[in-house]
Amino acid sequence: MSIHPETSAITAGRPEVAPDASLNPPIVFSSTYHAGGPVGYGRYGNESWSALEAAISELEGGQTLSFSSGMAAISAVFSILPIGAPVVASNQGYSGTMSLLNQHHATGRLEVRFVDITNTEEVVAAIKGAALLWLESPTNPCLDVADLPALIAAAKKQTIGVGVDNTFATPMVQTPLSMGADIVMHSVTKFLAGHSDVVLGSLSISDSALFKRLEESRRLNGSIPGPFEAWLALRGIRTFPVRFRAAEANAKTLVTRLQKHAKVTKVRYPGFGAVISFEIDGNAENAEKVCESSRLITHATSLGGVESLWERRRRWAAESPSVPEQLIRLSVGCEHVDDIWQDIEQALASL
Ligand SMILES: *Cc1c(COP(=O)(O)O)cnc(C)c1O
Repeated sequence: MSIHPETSAITAGRPEVAPDASLNPPIVFSSTYHAGGPVGYGRYGNESWSALEAAISELEGGQTLSFSSGMAAISAVFSILPIGAPVVASNQGYSGTMSLLNQHHATGRLEVRFVDITNTEEVVAAIKGAALLWLESPTNPCLDVADLPALIAAAKKQTIGVGVDNTFATPMVQTPLSMGADIVMHSVTKFLAGHSDVVLGSLSISDSALFKRLEESRRLNGSIPGPFEAWLALRGIRTFPVRFRAAEANAKTLVTRLQKHAKVTKVRYPGFGAVISFEIDGNAENAEKVCESSRLITHATSLGGVESLWERRRRWAAESPSVPEQLIRLSVGCEHVDDIWQDIEQALASL
């Protein structure tokens, strides 16, 4: 029997057991190491990264590399593709990823084919001759869901690489490597670290040759995490499954209440996870007013922390115009659900 994520989140990435050995890995602050070992220098390896990477590998499978941010992890994947390589990606997703893909497409660095990832036939038709299928599912912030098993199988049949941004679903919901994907990416900043106190990213990779190429990319681009950030993220991972389930239970309750609210016109929720996107009966200004009226829910960007927070996504210029102006993305935290609901109700009453 394989170990459940609730357990491996707690047991993984610990130092070897020996009398008086520490239970937790130390934070290793060192830019260099005494000569003669396999690591040698602080940009090539660090014990605090290794502990975090071991824990993420237990959750996602494969071998993991940690990066200075989620965007650094995504950038590493695109960096190893040849000039002009065809990439198939969703036409809606995390604004940073979208901006990067648009930039790579505009400069000819990559040839990006944007598709509707909810349309499996359209995606399968687009991947012919592609080097990489990059999937984010559910998408940020519209929470569109791709048929991952079908798309991964179709790509694998044609030996096309598949990378999945698993930030929203997390390994509590899906483990894309087990479906045949080559790379799983996380903005560790979000649910894995979970306390809104660290920016960090990761790639978990099934193939050891691909792992080596991405490790080289991290080494040469210098997109390495700080040891303290890696340690904080691992500390967060200890409670990740418990936090995720608590936040998800809150989200499910809030979805049923939001659906019945007279001032809410549409609720987007994939049926799992702790992010809800909903549209209000009003315009951009009204949605801003709702976000500004909260007393418990923090008005801020980001997601996946223990604290509930929300924002109107289109307040960012980089957000896709296909995202409705009056859409509010709510990251549900671990507070008592009735307290969160009371705050949502009083904020909606400002309309
Ligand atoms: C936040 C986020 C990213 C980027 O991660 P950073 O840690 O902010 O660099 C990528 N993908 C998704 C889905 C995200 O939510």
